Amino acid sequence: MLDVNEDYALFLDFDGTLVDIVERPDAVVVDPSLPGTLTRLQERLGGALAIISGRPVAFLDGRFVPHEFDMAGLHGLEHRIAGRLSMCDPDEHPALREMVERLSKIVADKEGILIEDKGCSVAIHWRLAPHEKDFALATAHAAVEALGADYRVQHGKAVAEILPSAAGKGKVIERFLHESPYKGRRPIFVGDDLTDENGFKAVNAHGGLSVRIGAGETIAKVRLGTPADLRHCLSTWAFEGTLPIKGDDC
Ligand SMILES: [Mg+2]
Repeated sequence: MLDVNEDYALFLDFDGTLVDIVERPDAVVVDPSLPGTLTRLQERLGGALAIISGRPVAFLDGRFVPHEFDMAGLHGLEHRIAGRLSMCDPDEHPALREMVERLSKIVADKEGILIEDKGCSVAIHWRLAPHEKDFALATAHAAVEALGADYRVQHGKAVAEILPSAAGKGKVIERFLHESPYKGRRPIFVGDDLTDENGFKAVNAHGGLSVRIGAGETIAKVRLGTPADLRHCLSTWAFEGTLPIKGDDC
């Protein structure tokens, strides 16, 4: 059992971690109890709570109106730390913008393949068309080959994302840990996917706690079953004061 107290900084992935993954990424639903739980935890942690996601900050804010939690969006390309927002400008990525148009044409006749244009990155989803996985992956890798070393492919669950090479959840968690109120605190990062592994690496290096939701190979130290299990754990911590993680539940 791990009794987690107020000396921590809490970093939380969004899809598959705080909320269940849905077939169409724009249809995701936030549990009505979640904003209240996060607000209480944020108070408990002196403000050191942030959502670390591949989604744009604007999309996440839209799911939490009227709350504006600290966040890293687009795998860290944009972030809000202690309320100060730094955004990514799509105009600084002209080659990517051109590629998004090309990708939209390439997949136009592929039913079930979705292109999610995030401005400074683009995701190719095949959750609705699992048989198109090889095509989607090959398309993503060909796009990055054409774009050159400034971009890379980030693999996820039924998704491949093309994003600037500088982006990464580990890097942005490091950035938070250099700034108040995160600085000097022991980090916790909860995630569910390949894209979260370098976040786990960063918090492990800081002597923190890494938590993986669901099955799959991982370097995380603790595993929980589902987003609902995590929400229960977070609620216990928020309203009872401790987070007694015992493996598959709290
Ligand atoms: Mg996730």
